[in-house]
This record gives sequence, structure tokens and C-alpha cells, in this order.
Amino acid sequence: MKRPHLVVTVCFLAAMALVSGVGLRQLYQMTRYDLHSRQRDLEVRAVGVDALISAERRRLLFLRDYAEHLLASPGQQRAGLQNPKVQAALRDSGRPQWEAPGAMDGPRVFGTNAQGLAGIEGFDRDAAALPADIVLARSISPLLAISQHADAVQSTVAYISANGLYVLSPERPDARAPDLLRRFSTMPYYRLHATGQNAGRDIVWTPIYTESKKGEAIATLSAPVYTNGQFRGAVVMDVAPSRLLALQLATSNLTDDEAPAEFGLLNSNGDLVYFVNGEITAQRPARFDPYLLDVARASAAAWLKRGKGYAVHSGRYLLFQHVGDTQWILLTDTDDSELTLAAARRVFNSPLIVAWLAIAVLLVGTLRIVKHIFGQYVEASTRLETLARSDPLTGLANRRRFQEVFDETLERAAREGGETAAPAVAMLMLDIDYFKRVNDRFGHAAGDRVLVIFADILRNNLRSAEMPARVGGEEFAALLPGADLTTAASVAERIRRAVEAHAADSAHGASVPGEAVNPDAIAFTVSIGVAASPADCPAHYEALMQVADRRLYAAKTGGRNRVVAEDSRSIDPARA
Ligand code: GH3
Ligand code: MG
Ligand code: MG
Repeated sequence: MKRPHLVVTVCFLAAMALVSGVGLRQLYQMTRYDLHSRQRDLEVRAVGVDALISAERRRLLFLRDYAEHLLASPGQQRAGLQNPKVQAALRDSGRPQWEAPGAMDGPRVFGTNAQGLAGIEGFDRDAAALPADIVLARSISPLLAISQHADAVQSTVAYISANGLYVLSPERPDARAPDLLRRFSTMPYYRLHATGQNAGRDIVWTPIYTESKKGEAIATLSAPVYTNGQFRGAVVMDVAPSRLLALQLATSNLTDDEAPAEFGLLNSNGDLVYFVNGEITAQRPARFDPYLLDVARASAAAWLKRGKGYAVHSGRYLLFQHVGDTQWILLTDTDDSELTLAAARRVFNSPLIVAWLAIAVLLVGTLRIVKHIFGQYVEASTRLETLARSDPLTGLANRRRFQEVFDETLERAAREGGETAAPAVAMLMLDIDYFKRVNDRFGHAAGDRVLVIFADILRNNLRSAEMPARVGGEEFAALLPGADLTTAASVAERIRRAVEAHAADSAHGASVPGEAVNPDAIAFTVSIGVAASPADCPAHYEALMQVADRRLYAAKTGGRNRVVAEDSRSIDPARA
């Protein structure tokens, strides 16, 4: 393993990537989870909305059933007609503006005549039915007052008769009857029923955007009243904000989510009201995507059938939930960034994040330990390798290393030269003359110093491609790649002269009698045997070594301090 740090770092990064991958997956799953939890939240709120709507619906159904029952009951009709107040009202009913007291101190009944109804759509004077309608209006009057919520001052409950009369709780005595009737004819809560648009005769829950007294937006519940298949009027009930306690609970923010509680309520007709923290408003909250709301309007019928779900458009979600078995769909809005934020918050609050941090810390710790151990290991092995390859005294290569480099050099030469040319290589064998005497005269330490000095001379007189080595006690060798015999001999001669020059320099400072000798000033000489391939032998380590050794021996026997590069005779040292 050449680069343990790199390997560990790569492993570390891979582990981190894995952990991050798992984390992102978790985050994604959390966003899905959050979407579902929002859907469940909407479901719970829908139950609250349903509770309110059903309560109002029951109140209204009671009024509607009462009205229809009364109109269908001849006995009740007869009894009512005998009442002098009804008789008086019937007499007055020809006037453009007339009134009759309600039963049991209930609010008064107001009406107009046929002329007053002219041109008002949804109203028509039916003289035959008029007595029954007046009886009904009077009888229902106290019930309207009861149905009215105690603290709902603005909230209105009404019975509007298609025969051109009405009773409102609370009363509006200042308004002229024809004016109010004209207004009713334009309002959806009456108009829908009167013009036959409400074929199912269901209760209709209509948002009213225009009628906002003191800035209150209202929604109206209304139901048609029929007798013998004939439309006779409508019961209407405002659902004013003060009655919206259940809605407020259902649509205000009960969780600690910072997002404002904003909901839409959509009916099958495509009518939309919004709740912002429990307040009804006609204004679309900014967070709702208009495109998705259009989709909602278009898909209202399908969504009612589906019950719940959501629509997505460029990262925004519109969640819907059918409210009970009403015609209403509760809507809420969210987007990807909101879901991701919520999911991230959940993930960071979970024990998982602790595990993640622990893994990261462990990884960093492991990296440090591994780095430390590998560092020591690499350092030790480098040291061992250097020891195994070099001579500790001179720092030169040892015999083993010398042979290794020799072989490598030949291999390289063979590769580069191809098979045709025999590689040129030369070898020097060098041995210090009378070295034993140095040891004997000056001591072993001085002898060591001489070996170091000689090693330096060798280094200084060889090029970088040439390699010196210490192959024995005071025996050295040099490898000269690419050199022929002549070149090698001249290199050897250069070395011999350098040693001689050192001896000449030393002569002056040497051995002052009585003083300890300076080992740098010890004079010595060297004998060198030279061998070259292919001139002398094939390019083999042993063969070259043998030839060089033989010539070194010749140099010794020939008188030392000389270079021998051939077998027959010694090269004469060119001594000055
Ligand atoms: P010559 O080669 O000229 O024939 O004479 P020589 O005295 O050099 O011959 P020889 O090979 O007999 O002596 C080698 C000596 O080198 C013997 C040994 O004490 C000494 N020697 C070998 N290794 C070391 C070493 O590492 N340090 C020192 N100081 N001396 C060493
Ligand atoms: Mg020797
Ligand atoms: Mg020697």
C-alpha cells in the first residue's frame, strides 16, 4: 500500500457519501411523511368544520321542515286564518308596504303588493296561496328568533316567501319591503332556489362577499321550501364570524408550526371562502397558488368523490379533504421548501442525527489513528530499507544495493538498446593501500574517518549516473553505465589523482610530533582495477567483478597507488 492516507481518505469520503445518501433518503421520506401528516391534520380540521356545518344545517332543516309541514297541514292553516291579525294582514296586503305582527312577540312580517313585486325575479303574487304564506310567516317568526344565536347581533335568520313577504330576525323596520325583496332576488341564497338551480332542493351554503357590515364577511346557509312540488320560499341563515367558533378551532393553528393557518373552503359550485386563523375572508391568501385553485374549482366534483388527496404544480401542493358528507372541500396549501424545512427539523430533532454525528466523529478519529499508525509504519520501513541498502559509515550503497543497481542498469540498457547492441558498462574495484597501517598508527576511529573521506572523494569524482559503493571493509566499487574501458580507466585515474591530491594537501598539516593527529590530514593512496563490458567480458556482475578484482590485485602487486585496466601490464601512473 503506497498511499495509505489516500486510501483511508477515500474510504472516509465514501463512508460520508453513504451516510449523506442515507440522510437525504431519510429527508425525502420525511417530506413524504410530512405531506401525509398535513393531510391527516386537514382531515381532523374537516371534522371540526363538519361539526359546525351540521349544527347549522340541523337548525336550518328544522325551520325548513316546520315550514313545509305547516304549508301541508290544512288544520293548521284554518286555525291560523281565524286569527284576526292574519285577517288584518290580508286586508293590508294590497298596499305597497304592509306589515303584520309575528306570533308570540316574534319579529314582524313585512310585505308588498303585486305592483311592488313587478320586475323582481323570483317573486310573484299568488293570491290563493297568500293566506297560507302569511300564516306561515307569522308562525315561523318566533322560531327564527330562537334559532338566532344568542350573542350573534349581526347574524340574521329569515324566511323569504316567493309571494312577496318576509320575516327577518332581527327586524329591519327601516328598510322598504320592495327594496329588500329586490335585493333578495339578486342574492344567491334566495335566487338559487327561486330560479330552480338547486334541483336537489339541498341546503346551500353560500359565501357572501358583498354583504359585509362592519367589515364582516358572512356565509349563508339556505334551504328552499316546497309544497306540492311548488317553490314557496326559502329559509336563510347567516353564519356570522361570531358563530364560527368551531371553524375557528378547526382552522386556527393549534400546532407550533410557524406557518399561518390558512384554509380554503370550496363547494361543488366552485365557490371559495378562505379562513385565515379562523377568520372568514373572501381574499385569496397569497400563499395559495392561483393555478392550483383553478384546478380545484374545475375538479371540485371529482375531488368530492375522491374524498382526499392533493394536486401539485411546480413545487406547490394543494391538499384537499371532503368535509363530512357536505358539498364542501377543505383546502390547504404547502410547498416543497416548507415540507423540506419541516422534515429537516424533524430529522435534526431525531436521535438519528446523534448517530450520524457519532459516525462522523468515529470516522475522523479513525482517520487520525490510521494516519498515525501508517505514518510510523512507513517511517520505520523507509528507515529499514535505507539501512538494508546503504552503508551506515559512509552513506554509500552496500554490496547488495550495488548488485541490485547493476542488474537494473543492465535491464534498462537492454530495454533501451534493444537486442542488437550489447550494453556498455564498466566497473571499478578500489582498495585503499596499506589501510591496516592507518588503523594501527592512528586508531580505528581515524581509520573510519579516512573511509568517509575516501567515500566523499569518490562521490565528487563520479557523475550522477555513476554509482559508488562500499563493498567490503576498505574496498569500494563503482559502476559506470555506458562507459567503455578507456573512459572507465580515465575515471579511475581521476579518482586516484584526487586521492593523491588529498595526500599532498594533508602533508603540511600532518602529524606535528607530540600532538594528536588530525584524521582529515592522514595521507593515503588507492589502487584501482578497471573492467568493462563488452571489451573484457559479457555484461555480468560476477564476470566484471572478477576481472576488476584481478586487475586490482595486479595494481597491488605492481606497486599500489595505480590503475590497472588491462591484464598484460599496468598503466603507468602519470606521476609528476
Ligand atoms: P593492502 O590493501 O594495500 O594490501 O593493505 P591493507 O592493509 O589495506 O590490507 P588488508 O586488506 O589486509 O587490510 C584491511 C584492513 O582494513 C583490515 C581491517 O582492520 C581494516 N578495516 C576493515 N574494515 C574497517 C573499518 O570499517 N574501519 C576501520 N577503521 N578499519 C577497517
Ligand atoms: Mg583490502
Ligand atoms: Mg587495502
